[in-house]
Amino acid sequence: MTPITTFAERSVALFGLGGSGLATALALKAGGARVLAFDDNPESVARARGEGIETADLHGIDWSEVAALVLAPGVPLTHPAPHWSVGLAQGAGVEIIGDIELFCRERAKIAPEAPFVAITGTNGKSTTTALIAHILAQAGRDVQMGGNIGTAILSLEPPDAGRVHVIELSSFQIDLTPSLAPSVGVLLNITPDHLDRHGTLEQYAAIKERLIRGADLAIVGIDDRPSREIAERRGDRLIRVHVPVHPSREAALPADALIAREAAIHEADGTRLADVSGIGSLRGAHNWQNAAVAVAVARALGVPLEAIQAGLASFPGLPHRMEEVARRGRVLFVNDSKATNADSTEKALTAFRDIHWILGGKAKEGGIFPLVPYFERIAHAYLIGAASDAFAATLEGAVPYTRCETLEAAVPAAAAGAEACGAPEPVVLLSPACASYDQFRSFEQRGDRFRELVRALP
Ligand code: ADP
Repeated sequence: MTPITTFAERSVALFGLGGSGLATALALKAGGARVLAFDDNPESVARARGEGIETADLHGIDWSEVAALVLAPGVPLTHPAPHWSVGLAQGAGVEIIGDIELFCRERAKIAPEAPFVAITGTNGKSTTTALIAHILAQAGRDVQMGGNIGTAILSLEPPDAGRVHVIELSSFQIDLTPSLAPSVGVLLNITPDHLDRHGTLEQYAAIKERLIRGADLAIVGIDDRPSREIAERRGDRLIRVHVPVHPSREAALPADALIAREAAIHEADGTRLADVSGIGSLRGAHNWQNAAVAVAVARALGVPLEAIQAGLASFPGLPHRMEEVARRGRVLFVNDSKATNADSTEKALTAFRDIHWILGGKAKEGGIFPLVPYFERIAHAYLIGAASDAFAATLEGAVPYTRCETLEAAVPAAAAGAEACGAPEPVVLLSPACASYDQFRSFEQRGDRFRELVRALP
């Protein structure tokens, strides 16, 4: 745990008692603050009380005594409408911050030189965060990984000059971190997402830019317009990362840029730094971006190239993201349950051929129309869940399909179909392009079930 001492002897109101909220309350208390915590869910309040946290309905407290409101990142600060606790704090002139801000202030106080890598972007945050942490750990560094992935930041060990914090940040977390100043700040990409919570794309991009502006060194993926513009505004101490989709569209880049092309990562002058070809956990051009960024971070932290290459090669990948769960004879089974929209599924469809594709669930707007260009890679589709009718209509005449209703029926059907086909390496791919809520609690539960069903095949 990282005890927060910057609010010792003062009162802090805290709203949102999910995992990170509870960790924050405990860290503040350990550092000597008086915490008044609350949540709209009575069960969360009761659990916090069970952990020894003082709880109080924040409607009824004396706000003139409160030094700050700490808000959980899931609670709306601005959009679609500020949460009621935000209104109360603003009315009393009380600052509103998040757990990452508490970490930043503690770091500034106890270990300002402690290496702190902060990663954001619309897509690839978790993969890149896990990959950076893996490379550093394999190279023998003391690494703490968390934030928006895995462990809440204040449940990690405290910052220290000999220890690297590798922290994934969502826009919501950045929004609550006014003094964010990481030693290395990473921005992977910006595409429209979460606009219900951030208003316009400009506002969303402006929040992401704050992570870069405060960083000692900035590493920016420049393959979308908002990120490119942010890189241009940044100026010095910047490494641009470029993944040319078409060789002809390669941007002219400064010497310190990194380019990832055909699974090889090199400098603008052609010097080869690393290679991810044949690494199953880093398939696909989107993962070349993640890998190139990780190479840039690890180099900046002084990891030798051989150790970086070894770390890339041994990266196990994250569950539910093009995760290879089994190989049975010629057939590869891949769990891409995290692909809850067509954009994500597109990544998987470009990474494989001879695909026996399990898809469906609760459809997103646009369905699978954007995936039509990849239909030639699909040997057969197996439909599950609520979207079956709509998806069958899109597949009709282009891809043979079977209506399976459930994952329980789809996995054996797809396995049999893949075994029977003549391709050298057919793939059974769960990449649903849909939310899971019609049949599962979460994409994790859906992916776990897929893994079980594959293991249970005769
Ligand atoms: P996040 O934490 O930002 O949600 P993940 O690493 O969990 O990202 O990856 C989620 C999905 O996003 C992946 O399954 C893949 O489809 C897609 N993805 C991963 N990396 C990238 C990238 N660099 N650019 C675009 N899409 C990506």
